[in-house]
Amino acid sequence: MAGKGPTNAKLWVYDVGFGDCLLLELAYPHQTRFVLFDFGTKGLPPGAGPRHMQAVADAIEGKLAEGELVAVVATHRHRDHIASFPLLPKLAPRVVVQPWTDKPSARRDWTGPGPGPGVRLRRHHDPLGFMPGTLAAAQSASEHAFGLLGDDHPMAAAAKNNQENPRARAFLEKLCPASRHDYVFAGGRAKNLERCLPGVKISVLGPPTVKQYASTLRPPKRSSADDDEHWLWLAGLTDEWAFWHRAERALASAAEAHQGRGRPLFPRAPSRRAIPPEGRWLVERMSRERRDAASALVQVVDSALNNTSVILLLTIGKTRLLFSGDAEVEAWKWALCDAPDHRQTRAAVGATDLYKVGHHGSWNATPRGTLWPAFGKKGGPGRRGRMVSVLSTKPGTHPSVPAPALLRELKQSTTLYSTRARRPKGQLCIEVPIRLRK
Ligand SMILES: [Zn+2]
Repeated sequence: MAGKGPTNAKLWVYDVGFGDCLLLELAYPHQTRFVLFDFGTKGLPPGAGPRHMQAVADAIEGKLAEGELVAVVATHRHRDHIASFPLLPKLAPRVVVQPWTDKPSARRDWTGPGPGPGVRLRRHHDPLGFMPGTLAAAQSASEHAFGLLGDDHPMAAAAKNNQENPRARAFLEKLCPASRHDYVFAGGRAKNLERCLPGVKISVLGPPTVKQYASTLRPPKRSSADDDEHWLWLAGLTDEWAFWHRAERALASAAEAHQGRGRPLFPRAPSRRAIPPEGRWLVERMSRERRDAASALVQVVDSALNNTSVILLLTIGKTRLLFSGDAEVEAWKWALCDAPDHRQTRAAVGATDLYKVGHHGSWNATPRGTLWPAFGKKGGPGRRGRMVSVLSTKPGTHPSVPAPALLRELKQSTTLYSTRARRPKGQLCIEVPIRLRK
C-alpha cells in the first residue's frame, strides 16, 4: 500500500450542539477524499438560531467542493446522528456505512449477519435489544413515553431523540445503490469503504450481533436490582421483544389517559371530573409513578440504540483514529473482553492517536475499566505523540453528559478539542490537525 495512501489528514468537527457531525479529510497525491460521520442534533449550541443546521449544511457543501465525498458513515439511528442529513440534498457518496441493525430488508427477528461463534441460542434471546423488531417496538414505546413526560422533563429530549425518524432513514437508504451500503458488525468488514480509501486499514469493532453477544452472556438474573453489572440488568428487561410491545401499549393508554382522552377503564362506574381534596395526593403520586416508569424506559431504549453504533478503527501508516458513535459499555465489552480476537483489538485500540469521545462524553461510553486504561498514549501536555480527543457535546441536554470526571481526565491526559471551547464568533467548526506517522 506504500505510496497509495493519504499523505495528509484533518478532521473538521462541526458544532451541532448535542449531536455529531465530523468530516474526515484525507489528502491523496491527486485528490482529496472526505468521509462524513453523522449529521444531527438534539439541542442546538447556545445562542444558535433556527437556521443553524442549514448553515452547517451549507458549510459542509462548501468544504466538499474541494474534493470528493467518498463515504457517509451514519453510526446509528438516533436523531442527533442522522436527522439533519436531508438538509444535504446534493450529497452523493460512493458508499454508505451503517450498523447491521439498520438494514432495510432485515426480518423483525434477525439476529445479525455473520456465522456467529457456533453457539446455538437456547431460546429467543436478544440481550441488547438489537433485533429490528425489538428496535422498532422500543422506539414506538419511547414515543408514547414522550407524551407522558412532557416537554420540561429532564428525559424529554432523550425520549424525542429515540423516536423513529423515517425521513432521514429513507434519505440514507437512497443515498447510493443498495449494493454500495456496508451494513457492518463487530469483526466483519466494510468492503465498499475499504475500496474507496486505499492505504487505510479499516477495522470494524462494533456493533456486536445478537449471536455474538448472547454467546458470552451469563443467564440474566431476574432480581438484579443490586447487581452492579449494568448489562445484566438491561438483559433482564429486553430479552424478549414482546416486552416492548407490552410497554408500548401500556404507555399509549397511560399517555391517552394523562391527556384526558381514551376510554375509561370501568365505563359504567360513576365518575367525577373534580378530584376531591382528600384524593389529590393519590392522583399526584400515581402520575409521578407513571412518569418515573416512562423515564426509566426511555433510558433503556437510549442505551440500546447507542449500542447499535458502528465502531471503526482507521489505521493510516502507524496512525490510528477511533470513531465509536455513541457505543456504550455493553458494546465495548464484546470488542475488548469477549470477542475471539479481543486481545489484538485491545492492543490496536491501545495505540489510538485520535479518539472521538463516545456519546458526547457520557459516563458509560468511554468505559473506565476497559477502554480508558487501554489507551496507551495518554499523558501530560509535554508527552510526545500525546493522544488527541475530540468531544462534540452540549451540557444540560442529557442528564450528566458530559460527565465531569471524564472531562477532567480528557483535559489532563489528552489534547482535547471540544465544540464547547471558545472560538471566533461565526465559526461553525473546529479544525483538528492529524499527524500521519509512516
Ligand atoms: Zn448521540
